[in-house]
Amino acid sequence: MSANENELAEELLAVVCAMQEYRLNVGTSGNASARYDGGFLVTPSGVPPECCCSANMVKMAMDGAYAGEAAPSSEWRIHRDIYKHFPETGAVIHAHSPFATALACQRTDIPPFHYMIATFGGESVRCAAYATFGTEALSKNVLAALAGRSACLLANHGMVVTGRNLAHALACAVEFETLCEQYWRTCLLGAPVLLTEKEMADALEHFRHYGAQAFRPLAPQPVL
Ligand code: 13P
Ligand code: ZN
Repeated sequence: MSANENELAEELLAVVCAMQEYRLNVGTSGNASARYDGGFLVTPSGVPPECCCSANMVKMAMDGAYAGEAAPSSEWRIHRDIYKHFPETGAVIHAHSPFATALACQRTDIPPFHYMIATFGGESVRCAAYATFGTEALSKNVLAALAGRSACLLANHGMVVTGRNLAHALACAVEFETLCEQYWRTCLLGAPVLLTEKEMADALEHFRHYGAQAFRPLAPQPVL
């Protein structure tokens, strides 16, 4: 393993540990990856982060080939297909986080109840149609839901968030879960007043210039 690959593998492991710290995932739920060397590094399948070392992160080629003993995440197709179709994406996070998953079990898109929906690319966050975990069908549904977006729900399953790099994807995943909680709380009070098309268009325009220099990556937190 090259020094660069080792460094990225360490970062990937730190990110999946941080996902547990932030309560985005528990046990073996969820997975993460980062684009690397014409392919990507992805977490191994069915192993909780605390039982992994960086050498267990799996290097995959875009045709799904991998070397080594550890089998890649069962959702490797989702990760691979996102890198294939979204050239600007450098990292992908999949989680069964509590609030996103609760909404995903309703199989509804998240409407423009809050202007922060625009940070994920449009005036709603879609819910990908249900398919069995680990299948090509699920990956296809996720791609469709991500068109023009950097996050989506997965029906009766969880969520996917993409980012420029691992730290960015992690920060966006935390933000997305927060937004899902806010929507859930809002719905408890009754149907929210939704922003209009014009109000969301204005928010989207503002986001084109917002935060470019203020972004500070969330430092991955090691699990103690
Ligand atoms: P893996 O352990 O294979 O990554 O699967 C977890 C998961 O969330 C499947 O959807
Ligand atoms: Zn999953």
